[in-house]
Amino acid sequence: MQTDKEITIGILALQGDYEAHKKMLSHSGGAATLLVRSVEELHMCDGMIIPGGESTTIGKLLVKHDIIDPLIHKVQDGMPLYGTCAGMILMAKEIAGSEQTRLGVTNISVARNAFGRQVDSFEAQIPFASLEGDPVEGVFIRAPYVTKTWGEVEILAKYQDKIVGIREKNMLATAFHPELTSDTRVHELFLEMVRSAVRGASNP
Ligand code: GLN
Repeated sequence: MQTDKEITIGILALQGDYEAHKKMLSHSGGAATLLVRSVEELHMCDGMIIPGGESTTIGKLLVKHDIIDPLIHKVQDGMPLYGTCAGMILMAKEIAGSEQTRLGVTNISVARNAFGRQVDSFEAQIPFASLEGDPVEGVFIRAPYVTKTWGEVEILAKYQDKIVGIREKNMLATAFHPELTSDTRVHELFLEMVRSAVRGASNP
């Protein structure tokens, strides 16, 4: 039987909880991980994750390290991208009340720190479309939510009527942090997106 080549998942490692994603992927078999801080490293990856952290800081560092334009181009060319929390904010075309630097590749509007200042962080069980079994444990930390979607965005998860998980073609985003739990299913879903993009590229 022909086996897939091992895929490489890049984790943007300029700021934020990138180590947690690396650890999570080490439990979800079949993918090598690379912490990405340069364009050269970006070009070695079959898929990329933008972690949680501070979206304004990550945006500035993306520019400083000259990664932003190549990353946008790779995603527009079909490379899968998964953003958690700050990562979701950076993917959005629109960020309420903010002109901050972003990739702007995903057809969503987001509101930052949208669950209110009193509730800095919380956990909730989140039913997640396209995942078998129990809801996922959603860890929310100064989380955004999605206020509007358009184009081909599929809504995968909601919490109290707020959109907190979406997919648009090769892009996946969650307002919460599966990498801070022991449930690997959202990362497995992303790995499947990457495998299928790699297969598609080798069998045009
Ligand atoms: N509130 C942060 C921001 O706006 C995101 C928080 C997180 O990634 N946990 O960038």
